[in-house]
Amino acid sequence: MRKGSDNKGEAGGRKGVLSKGRVYSVVSYMVAKALAGRMEVVDVLYEHFVKDASPSVLERRYPLTKMQIRGYMQRIMEKTRSRTLARLIIERSYKHVKNIKPIIRHVQEGLCRCIICGDDIFCDAADEHVRNVHRALVDEYTIAVMKLMAREILSESHPHESGGG
Ligand SMILES: [Zn+2]
Repeated sequence: MRKGSDNKGEAGGRKGVLSKGRVYSVVSYMVAKALAGRMEVVDVLYEHFVKDASPSVLERRYPLTKMQIRGYMQRIMEKTRSRTLARLIIERSYKHVKNIKPIIRHVQEGLCRCIICGDDIFCDAADEHVRNVHRALVDEYTIAVMKLMAREILSESHPHESGGG
């Protein structure tokens, strides 16, 4: 059995990077939004934390209220407790999260359908459905995105060792 102890400094002795740490928590949040077809939330988080756009500016550009936008930002800050960390994670994960195909389809005004289980749900409850019913899928995508992020960071620090594949 391998003892993963390379995660020093974290309170409570976490198992490793891929367990529920702060990076995982933020990426997982964005992945769930993407799977739920709420890509505008992913965009707003990127615009705010990476491009420094204010909630007032974002409110005019996206179909979201300032209060909703502040709510999403607050969720990220609760998870990271650091603006710098939030920026870093979102900057690194954004393009990979953007590649995720939603599993929720819009059917009619306010009504959506999950293409995995076929359930009809209110669009407002779409990301809740994704997180609760398809948790395993969210975890799978989160780990995939984190691996891509790690690979990129490694290839940047050792540009000559990055082979294709
Ligand atoms: Zn479903």
